[in-house]
Amino acid sequence: MRRAAACLALLPILALLAGPRPAAAAAEFLDGVFTQGGFAIGRTAPGAAVRFDGRTVQVGPDGRFVIGFHRDDPTEMTLEIETTDGAASTQAVRIEPRAYDIQRIDGLPPRKVTPAEAVLQRIRAEADLVRAARTRDSAPTWFDSGWIWPVEGRITGVFGSQRVLNGQPRQPHYGIDIAAPTGTPVVAPADGVVSLRHRDMYFSGGTLMIDHGRGLASAFLHMETIEVAEGETVRQGQRIGTVGATGRATGPHLDWRVNWFGKRLDAALFVPPMGE
Ligand SMILES: [Zn+2]
Repeated sequence: MRRAAACLALLPILALLAGPRPAAAAAEFLDGVFTQGGFAIGRTAPGAAVRFDGRTVQVGPDGRFVIGFHRDDPTEMTLEIETTDGAASTQAVRIEPRAYDIQRIDGLPPRKVTPAEAVLQRIRAEADLVRAARTRDSAPTWFDSGWIWPVEGRITGVFGSQRVLNGQPRQPHYGIDIAAPTGTPVVAPADGVVSLRHRDMYFSGGTLMIDHGRGLASAFLHMETIEVAEGETVRQGQRIGTVGATGRATGPHLDWRVNWFGKRLDAALFVPPMGE
């Protein structure tokens, strides 16, 4: 007992002798949009361990890593870096807050706003599939292809709006809605691998997800047709299906979303202004 106590008492002294751990060099940011719904691509020493907002972030052999900022993330978050020599540092990541619109949509079928008990099980099962696809943390940086619009048309819904459906407050809208006639081709906005394909989800109808690497993923909702298979590699600009009005939709449009794992990002921040 005495012996153990003595050993424990020595620990702080040993820590003092070892001195403070050396500070790791700060990560630099190569690209990004530092706002709620934005993202950043950083670079640190290869082999370093990076944590952001409670998550261990994959660092590539080139030292690059990706982080994303949710709709409601705080304006100051922390990046923790520990290099292979044990040097550790924390770094504040500051993002701009955003103001979101309120969007009212009326005339939806009541069962699509407040689903019957009987379909809740189906809705939960579908949500589980989507959630599982969002956990993928693929090493390839397919997003290096850059980004283009998957379809062009009038923007009828934007990221983050607070939704009031048939007068009832619902989840915010995380996608960008692009109106286009049913059958309009949809192309892959960036390179990736198809991580989910579902013909008919209750809310989102024909649903497709593409893994762009490192937790970045696109989702495409309400599609009329899906022309790629799960596991298939897609290239930016490749046709992946067509616009539809399947699921909970008042008219034909593509609802395009980008996620970084569970965080919802603003897809519009990845692409140049439409028409360029
Ligand atoms: Zn939408």
